[in-house]
Amino acid sequence: MTSGTLEINRRAFMTSMVAGGLTAGVNARSPENSISGQLNEIELSRNPLLWTVAWSNTAAEFGALCHQAFNLARLRVDEAMEKHSRSERPLAVVTDVDNTIVHAGSYWSFLISEGVDFFDDEIWDRWIPENLIALVPGAMDFLKYCEYHGVEIFYVTNRDQGPRTYSYALNQLQYLNLPYSDSEHLVVFRESSDKTSARERIGESHELILLLGDNLNDFKRDYYVADVEERRALMERDRAEIGDKFIILPNATDGHWVRAIFGESEPAATDENRLKLLAAATRGAWIGARSTQG
Ligand SMILES: [Mg+2]
Repeated sequence: MTSGTLEINRRAFMTSMVAGGLTAGVNARSPENSISGQLNEIELSRNPLLWTVAWSNTAAEFGALCHQAFNLARLRVDEAMEKHSRSERPLAVVTDVDNTIVHAGSYWSFLISEGVDFFDDEIWDRWIPENLIALVPGAMDFLKYCEYHGVEIFYVTNRDQGPRTYSYALNQLQYLNLPYSDSEHLVVFRESSDKTSARERIGESHELILLLGDNLNDFKRDYYVADVEERRALMERDRAEIGDKFIILPNATDGHWVRAIFGESEPAATDENRLKLLAAATRGAWIGARSTQG
Protein backbone atom coordinates (compact mmCIF):
# COMPACT_ATOMS: atom_id res chain seq x y z
CA MET A 1 0.00 0.00 0.00
CA THR A 2 1.44 3.32 -1.01
CA SER A 3 0.67 6.56 0.77
CA GLY A 4 -0.83 7.68 -2.53
CA THR A 5 -3.42 4.93 -2.42
CA LEU A 6 -4.27 5.79 1.15
CA GLU A 7 -4.71 9.40 0.17
CA ILE A 8 -7.10 8.37 -2.61
CA ASN A 9 -9.15 6.23 -0.22
CA ARG A 10 -9.21 8.99 2.36
CA ARG A 11 -10.30 11.56 -0.18
CA ALA A 12 -13.00 9.21 -1.43
CA PHE A 13 -14.33 8.96 2.10
CA MET A 14 -14.20 12.65 2.99
CA THR A 15 -17.59 14.25 2.95
CA SER A 16 -18.80 17.71 2.08
CA MET A 17 -18.41 18.98 5.63
CA VAL A 18 -15.15 20.75 4.89
CA ALA A 19 -14.44 22.54 1.62
CA GLY A 20 -11.98 20.71 -0.60
CA GLY A 21 -9.42 23.51 -0.44
CA LEU A 22 -9.23 23.31 3.34
CA THR A 23 -8.58 19.61 3.40
CA ALA A 24 -5.79 19.60 0.84
CA GLY A 25 -2.54 18.33 2.31
CA VAL A 26 -4.00 17.38 5.68
CA ASN A 27 -2.20 14.36 7.07
CA ALA A 28 -4.26 12.07 9.29
CA ARG A 29 -1.39 11.20 11.57
CA SER A 30 0.68 14.34 11.90
CA PRO A 31 -1.41 17.47 11.43
CA GLU A 32 0.55 20.52 10.38
CA ASN A 33 -1.33 22.72 12.81
CA SER A 34 -4.14 22.46 15.31
CA ILE A 35 -6.86 23.80 12.99
CA SER A 36 -6.15 21.33 10.22
CA GLY A 37 -5.71 18.65 12.86
CA GLN A 38 -9.15 19.34 14.32
CA LEU A 39 -10.75 19.49 10.91
CA ASN A 40 -9.16 16.20 10.03
CA GLU A 41 -10.33 14.55 13.25
CA ILE A 42 -13.88 15.64 12.46
CA GLU A 43 -13.56 14.17 8.98
CA LEU A 44 -12.17 10.93 10.35
CA SER A 45 -15.01 10.77 12.87
CA ARG A 46 -17.54 10.47 10.04
CA ASN A 47 -16.26 7.03 9.07
CA PRO A 48 -19.15 4.50 9.24
CA LEU A 49 -16.78 1.90 10.71
CA LEU A 50 -16.48 3.91 13.91
CA TRP A 51 -19.33 2.40 15.94
CA THR A 52 -18.41 -1.17 15.10
CA VAL A 53 -14.71 -0.78 15.83
CA ALA A 54 -15.25 1.33 18.96
CA TRP A 55 -17.59 -1.38 20.23
CA SER A 56 -15.18 -4.27 19.77
CA ASN A 57 -12.28 -2.13 21.05
CA THR A 58 -14.00 -0.99 24.24
CA ALA A 59 -17.23 -2.77 25.12
CA ALA A 60 -17.13 -5.26 27.97
CA GLU A 61 -20.18 -6.69 26.20
CA PHE A 62 -17.97 -7.70 23.25
CA GLY A 63 -15.70 -9.68 25.60
CA ALA A 64 -18.74 -11.12 27.38
CA LEU A 65 -20.16 -12.44 24.08
CA CYS A 66 -16.83 -14.10 23.32
CA HIS A 67 -16.70 -15.69 26.78
CA GLN A 68 -20.30 -16.80 26.39
CA ALA A 69 -19.36 -18.56 23.15
CA PHE A 70 -16.32 -20.29 24.65
CA ASN A 71 -18.18 -21.24 27.85
CA LEU A 72 -20.80 -22.92 25.71
CA ALA A 73 -18.10 -24.58 23.63
CA ARG A 74 -16.53 -25.99 26.79
CA LEU A 75 -19.89 -27.39 27.84
CA ARG A 76 -20.20 -29.17 24.47
CA VAL A 77 -16.69 -30.57 24.86
CA ASP A 78 -17.58 -31.87 28.35
CA GLU A 79 -20.70 -33.55 26.97
CA ALA A 80 -18.75 -35.15 24.13
CA MET A 81 -16.05 -36.44 26.48
CA GLU A 82 -18.68 -37.99 28.72
CA LYS A 83 -20.17 -39.97 25.84
CA HIS A 84 -16.87 -40.80 24.18
CA SER A 85 -15.19 -44.18 24.52
CA ARG A 86 -11.48 -44.68 23.92
CA SER A 87 -12.09 -47.13 21.10
CA GLU A 88 -13.76 -44.45 19.00
CA ARG A 89 -12.08 -41.91 16.74
CA PRO A 90 -10.29 -39.14 18.70
CA LEU A 91 -12.30 -36.05 19.52
CA ALA A 92 -11.62 -32.79 17.70
CA VAL A 93 -12.78 -29.20 17.41
CA VAL A 94 -12.45 -27.28 14.13
CA THR A 95 -11.97 -23.55 14.49
CA ASP A 96 -11.66 -20.62 12.14
CA VAL A 97 -8.80 -18.21 12.95
CA ASP A 98 -9.59 -14.55 12.13
CA ASN A 99 -12.15 -13.00 14.47
CA THR A 100 -12.71 -16.36 16.11
CA ILE A 101 -9.39 -17.03 17.83
CA VAL A 102 -7.49 -13.85 16.92
CA HIS A 103 -8.82 -10.33 16.87
CA ALA A 104 -7.78 -7.82 14.19
CA GLY A 105 -8.62 -4.68 16.19
CA SER A 106 -5.37 -2.85 15.43
CA TYR A 107 -5.93 -3.35 11.69
CA TRP A 108 -9.42 -1.84 11.76
CA SER A 109 -8.28 1.02 14.01
CA PHE A 110 -5.50 1.73 11.54
CA LEU A 111 -7.98 1.93 8.67
CA ILE A 112 -10.04 4.47 10.60
CA SER A 113 -6.99 6.53 11.51
CA GLU A 114 -6.18 6.66 7.78
CA GLY A 115 -9.70 7.62 6.74
CA VAL A 116 -10.39 4.28 5.04
CA ASP A 117 -13.99 3.13 5.42
CA PHE A 118 -13.98 -0.28 3.68
CA PHE A 119 -11.88 -3.41 4.16
CA ASP A 120 -8.56 -2.80 2.41
CA ASP A 121 -6.90 -5.98 1.16
CA GLU A 122 -3.56 -4.38 0.46
CA ILE A 123 -3.25 -3.03 4.00
CA TRP A 124 -4.47 -6.38 5.37
CA ASP A 125 -1.71 -8.20 3.48
CA ARG A 126 0.88 -5.87 4.99
CA TRP A 127 -0.65 -6.15 8.47
CA ILE A 128 -0.78 -9.98 8.69
CA PRO A 129 3.00 -10.69 8.78
CA GLU A 130 3.45 -8.07 11.51
CA ASN A 131 1.73 -10.37 14.05
CA LEU A 132 -0.15 -7.47 15.60
CA ILE A 133 -3.10 -9.71 16.40
CA ALA A 134 -4.62 -10.09 19.85
CA LEU A 135 -6.36 -13.15 21.23
CA VAL A 136 -10.13 -13.14 21.31
CA PRO A 137 -11.26 -13.13 24.98
CA GLY A 138 -11.65 -16.69 26.27
CA ALA A 139 -9.99 -18.30 23.24
CA MET A 140 -6.74 -19.39 24.87
CA ASP A 141 -8.45 -20.84 27.97
CA PHE A 142 -10.79 -22.88 25.80
CA LEU A 143 -8.04 -24.17 23.51
CA LYS A 144 -5.86 -25.10 26.50
CA TYR A 145 -8.82 -26.87 28.07
CA CYS A 146 -9.21 -28.96 24.93
CA GLU A 147 -5.50 -29.73 24.82
CA TYR A 148 -5.49 -30.76 28.50
CA HIS A 149 -8.27 -33.26 27.78
CA GLY A 150 -6.68 -34.56 24.58
CA VAL A 151 -9.29 -32.96 22.31
CA GLU A 152 -7.44 -31.96 19.15
CA ILE A 153 -7.81 -28.50 17.63
CA PHE A 154 -7.76 -27.98 13.87
CA TYR A 155 -7.36 -24.43 12.58
CA VAL A 156 -9.03 -23.87 9.21
CA THR A 157 -8.63 -20.44 7.69
CA ASN A 158 -9.01 -18.63 4.39
CA ARG A 159 -6.17 -16.20 3.74
CA ASP A 160 -4.07 -15.12 0.80
CA GLN A 161 -0.89 -13.17 1.28
CA GLY A 162 0.89 -14.80 -1.64
CA PRO A 163 3.36 -17.72 -1.54
CA ARG A 164 4.13 -17.13 2.14
CA THR A 165 0.49 -17.30 3.25
CA TYR A 166 0.83 -20.62 5.02
CA SER A 167 4.03 -19.77 6.86
CA TYR A 168 2.58 -16.42 7.99
CA ALA A 169 -0.49 -18.19 9.37
CA LEU A 170 1.48 -20.94 11.10
CA ASN A 171 3.93 -18.41 12.48
CA GLN A 172 1.05 -16.42 13.94
CA LEU A 173 -0.40 -19.45 15.76
CA GLN A 174 3.03 -20.34 17.11
CA TYR A 175 3.76 -16.73 18.06
CA LEU A 176 0.64 -16.87 20.22
CA ASN A 177 1.65 -20.26 21.68
CA LEU A 178 -1.65 -21.80 20.68
CA PRO A 179 -2.10 -25.54 21.27
CA TYR A 180 -1.64 -27.80 18.25
CA SER A 181 -0.01 -25.01 16.26
CA ASP A 182 1.69 -27.28 13.76
CA SER A 183 1.28 -28.10 10.09
CA GLU A 184 -0.79 -31.19 10.91
CA HIS A 185 -3.45 -29.01 12.50
CA LEU A 186 -3.51 -25.96 10.24
CA VAL A 187 -5.35 -25.81 6.92
CA VAL A 188 -5.16 -22.62 4.86
CA PHE A 189 -7.35 -22.04 1.82
CA ARG A 190 -5.86 -19.43 -0.46
CA GLU A 191 -8.08 -19.65 -3.52
CA SER A 192 -11.49 -20.13 -1.93
CA SER A 193 -13.40 -19.47 1.27
CA ASP A 194 -15.06 -22.90 0.96
CA LYS A 195 -13.84 -24.90 3.96
CA THR A 196 -16.06 -27.94 3.36
CA SER A 197 -13.29 -30.29 2.16
CA ALA A 198 -11.20 -29.64 5.29
CA ARG A 199 -14.14 -30.32 7.58
CA GLU A 200 -14.90 -33.55 5.73
CA ARG A 201 -11.29 -34.71 5.76
CA ILE A 202 -10.88 -34.09 9.49
CA GLY A 203 -14.23 -35.78 10.10
CA GLU A 204 -12.93 -38.99 8.52
CA SER A 205 -10.21 -39.46 11.13
CA HIS A 206 -11.78 -37.64 14.08
CA GLU A 207 -15.12 -37.26 15.77
CA LEU A 208 -15.94 -33.59 15.34
CA ILE A 209 -17.48 -32.13 18.47
CA LEU A 210 -18.15 -28.66 17.13
CA LEU A 211 -17.15 -25.92 14.73
CA LEU A 212 -16.11 -22.46 15.91
CA GLY A 213 -16.36 -19.42 13.64
CA ASP A 214 -17.42 -15.80 13.23
CA ASN A 215 -19.01 -16.44 9.84
CA LEU A 216 -21.82 -18.92 9.14
CA ASN A 217 -19.74 -19.99 6.14
CA ASP A 218 -17.37 -21.52 8.73
CA PHE A 219 -20.16 -24.03 9.40
CA LYS A 220 -21.84 -24.60 6.05
CA ARG A 221 -21.08 -23.42 2.54
CA ASP A 222 -24.82 -22.77 2.11
CA TYR A 223 -24.22 -19.34 3.61
CA TYR A 224 -22.15 -18.20 0.66
CA VAL A 225 -25.15 -16.54 -0.93
CA ALA A 226 -25.44 -12.92 -1.96
CA ASP A 227 -28.91 -12.36 -0.63
CA VAL A 228 -29.71 -11.00 2.82
CA GLU A 229 -33.12 -12.66 3.20
CA GLU A 230 -31.93 -16.03 1.91
CA ARG A 231 -29.05 -16.00 4.36
CA ARG A 232 -31.31 -15.15 7.26
CA ALA A 233 -33.73 -17.91 6.25
CA LEU A 234 -30.85 -20.44 6.22
CA MET A 235 -29.87 -19.30 9.70
CA GLU A 236 -33.42 -19.89 10.93
CA ARG A 237 -33.40 -23.32 9.27
CA ASP A 238 -30.21 -24.20 11.20
CA ARG A 239 -31.20 -22.60 14.49
CA ALA A 240 -31.15 -25.89 16.44
CA GLU A 241 -27.47 -26.42 15.52
CA ILE A 242 -26.39 -22.95 16.63
CA GLY A 243 -24.90 -23.20 20.11
CA ASP A 244 -24.79 -26.96 19.66
CA LYS A 245 -22.62 -27.98 16.69
CA PHE A 246 -21.85 -24.39 15.69
CA ILE A 247 -20.53 -21.85 18.16
CA ILE A 248 -20.40 -18.36 16.71
CA LEU A 249 -18.26 -15.38 17.75
CA PRO A 250 -19.24 -11.73 17.21
CA ASN A 251 -17.77 -9.85 14.24
CA ALA A 252 -19.48 -6.77 12.85
CA THR A 253 -16.67 -5.61 10.56
CA ASP A 254 -16.42 -8.30 7.89
CA GLY A 255 -17.64 -11.68 6.72
CA HIS A 256 -20.12 -13.06 4.23
CA TRP A 257 -22.90 -10.94 5.71
CA VAL A 258 -21.06 -8.16 3.86
CA ARG A 259 -21.29 -10.18 0.64
CA ALA A 260 -25.04 -10.51 1.12
CA ILE A 261 -25.33 -6.70 1.08
CA PHE A 262 -22.80 -5.79 -1.62
CA GLY A 263 -22.60 -8.96 -3.72
CA GLU A 264 -18.92 -9.34 -2.85
CA SER A 265 -17.03 -10.01 0.37
CA GLU A 266 -14.58 -7.14 -0.02
CA PRO A 267 -16.49 -4.33 -1.71
CA ALA A 268 -14.52 -1.39 -3.06
CA ALA A 269 -14.57 1.96 -1.28
CA THR A 270 -16.86 3.67 -3.79
CA ASP A 271 -19.81 6.02 -3.40
CA GLU A 272 -22.03 3.40 -5.01
CA ASN A 273 -21.14 0.98 -2.22
CA ARG A 274 -21.57 3.66 0.44
CA LEU A 275 -25.12 4.09 -0.83
CA LYS A 276 -25.67 0.33 -0.63
CA LEU A 277 -24.49 0.45 2.98
CA LEU A 278 -26.88 3.32 3.66
CA ALA A 279 -29.73 1.32 2.14
CA ALA A 280 -28.87 -1.70 4.29
CA ALA A 281 -28.74 0.43 7.43
CA THR A 282 -32.08 2.10 6.73
CA ARG A 283 -34.02 -1.08 5.91
CA GLY A 284 -37.26 -0.88 7.84
CA ALA A 285 -36.57 2.67 9.02
CA TRP A 286 -39.36 4.39 10.91
CA ILE A 287 -41.32 6.61 8.55
CA GLY A 288 -43.99 7.72 11.02
CA ALA A 289 -42.54 11.15 11.77
CA ARG A 290 -42.15 11.93 8.08
CA SER A 291 -45.74 10.95 7.28
CA THR A 292 -47.27 12.96 10.13
CA GLN A 293 -45.30 16.10 9.21
CA GLY A 294 -46.44 15.97 5.60
MG1 LIG B 1 -13.15 -15.48 10.53
